Amino acid sequence: MLFFEVGLLLDGKGFLMTTFRKLECKCAICGTTSEFDVLSSSNTCDGGPDLDTRPAEMYRSTMHLWLQECPKCKYVSGNISDRHNISREWLNSNSYRWCDGHFFMSSLAKRFYRHYLIAMESKDYKEAFYAILHCAWVCDDKKDIRNAIRCRKLALPLVTDMIEDDYYSDNYSSQSNDASLILLKADIMRRAKRFNEVVNEFSSKRLSDDRMNDYLQFEIEKAKAKDNKCYCTDDVPFTNHRPTYRKRPENSTSDMKKTESNEGSDLFDLPLL
Ligand SMILES: [Zn+2]
Repeated sequence: MLFFEVGLLLDGKGFLMTTFRKLECKCAICGTTSEFDVLSSSNTCDGGPDLDTRPAEMYRSTMHLWLQECPKCKYVSGNISDRHNISREWLNSNSYRWCDGHFFMSSLAKRFYRHYLIAMESKDYKEAFYAILHCAWVCDDKKDIRNAIRCRKLALPLVTDMIEDDYYSDNYSSQSNDASLILLKADIMRRAKRFNEVVNEFSSKRLSDDRMNDYLQFEIEKAKAKDNKCYCTDDVPFTNHRPTYRKRPENSTSDMKKTESNEGSDLFDLPLL
């Protein structure tokens, strides 16, 4: 790897928003060396995340920096220099090259879908879940409604398995993710227009945290109204309990890891992969 210059994206007032750097990486599959923009820092100063954990700006607009894709063999990874046992022949398959026949409207959506395919082939289902969820976000941005719904339908069995794994886990911190995953599943279902399933599966569900129940009831109400629009945590009213506020820095920057752990909600602590 070789570092180059550092780039800055500034808003109209000259405030620092996102920084990135140039990085040369050698593909672990074909050996081709390419240059990539790599995220150095960003922030989420523009409100809470969406109900499916998509972060607010500015981090929201850095998705093109989350994955690298080798221009030669099309291998996709967070870092294509990382060794992987996927074969070059598999990367040449029609399924991988043509994204299972989905005609995505952007190369970025293809990149996330290919990352999903690699993760599925590697049986890394958690990685696959986040890859296909992120692919849906890119489709949302492109107004590619059909593929956004397809991606969410592919995400559903994966998040269901993650919830079951957490439920049977002895690990307390893993179990504590369970409620967040339930909310995430409810939102993915609603955005995929599976309205009746949201109502049937979650109407009698009660979560341990009041605010989380607010989110869940909000999902159920929107599902009953057959509303599959995108909402963020700030859109959800507080009910029957005192709101708790967490002070947010007005214009702070942080490294990427710190940004990921501060997605603007005390309830969505799931990692962004
Ligand atoms: Zn390559």
